[in-house]
Amino acid sequence: KAFADCGFSSVLMNAIAKQSYEKPTPIQCQALPIALSGRDIIGIAKTGSGKTAAFILPMIVHIMDQPELKKDEGPIGVICAPTRELAHQIYLEAKKFAKQNGLRVSAIYGGMSKHDQLKELKAGCDVVVATPGRLIDMLKLKALTMMRATYLVLDEADRMFDLGFEPQIRSIVGQIRPDRQTLLFSATMPRKVERLAREILTDPIRVTV
Ligand code: AMP
Repeated sequence: KAFADCGFSSVLMNAIAKQSYEKPTPIQCQALPIALSGRDIIGIAKTGSGKTAAFILPMIVHIMDQPELKKDEGPIGVICAPTRELAHQIYLEAKKFAKQNGLRVSAIYGGMSKHDQLKELKAGCDVVVATPGRLIDMLKLKALTMMRATYLVLDEADRMFDLGFEPQIRSIVGQIRPDRQTLLFSATMPRKVERLAREILTDPIRVTV
């Protein structure tokens, strides 16, 4: 399997080459074609497997496929992660592939002033990477809307549950249109996470590495 088989644009292929990613990792081999076909995914994978690019690359394709980009109507891609450290890593990975495509990525997690975050979100973005608590805060402040969101990623879902984020996750998912594409990644699949997956994913395909 090769990235060239994925049908990526030359802009995206150049961005991948710039990262010196020579070939897809096992989770990418499995998840990329499924995500690119628009299907929902349950991915059982750990950090270090290359799972981030497995959901970021199809997300970029998904956004670039939208007929018109009205940047003031909120993000199309929404990624939730348990901690600010992980959210920041995802943010950096997303920026690698978003920039050349002219897409804007915003990070929403603790540590930054809410005022600065509000200002950035008001300026418009196509992708948000967020921890659930801070994303809820921003939604309450009407700093962004989920009106345009059609690609949702829940990363390290088991850890988000361990940290008590289940109500926040349910609230966020409830604000995103049901005909979205949803990808849930988790290192383990405890019953609670399995139940959430059954409720919020549509006919998902399971990938394991
Ligand atoms: P992740 O599991 O998403 O945290 O990725 C682990 C590391 O692998 C990150 O530093 C990525 O930049 C890197 N990586 C992701 N995909 C590839 C690939 N296809 N080839 C080489 N490195 C990769």
